[in-house]
Amino acid sequence: MEILSNLFEEKDRLLILKVHLYLTQANDHLVWSKELSRVYSVKSGYDLLQHTQGRWNGNDKELAIYWKHMWNLKIPLKVKNLMWRAGMNFLPTMVQLRSKHVNVSSLCPVCQIEDETILHRLVSCPEATLSQDLIDTEELDRSFKRNTQSWAEEVEDEQMMK
Ligand SMILES: [Zn+2]
Repeated sequence: MEILSNLFEEKDRLLILKVHLYLTQANDHLVWSKELSRVYSVKSGYDLLQHTQGRWNGNDKELAIYWKHMWNLKIPLKVKNLMWRAGMNFLPTMVQLRSKHVNVSSLCPVCQIEDETILHRLVSCPEATLSQDLIDTEELDRSFKRNTQSWAEEVEDEQMMK
């Protein structure tokens, strides 16, 4: 008590005294708050990193609903697969390879003009998979910068209008 009064002001001392201390002799241990089991998993660690780095803006439930909706669309499976891989950043671009510390140039191997990002590979490259008349590329570029999920939604909407 004397230490508390020597070190802390009255207001802080009262708050400290309100802290409930367990009387058992259990040892402290680390827990991982992102799993119900309180045990760390690589998946939950990865999910946390994705959230903290702004790679998706919705919660997991919204994202699951979105992807379920996308997979139910009546469009070719290969288009859905491409959208999913682009949305999850799973397309093997040169920029992705560099991010995995592979010693390659990040330039697009087709046009040698810009870095090969997913957006470049699918849209802005002169040899892009998705033709420029299919999508408003300036709007798509802005959208892509917001996040990849909204980009995939816009591609999906374009597909729905056809
Ligand atoms: Zn290119």
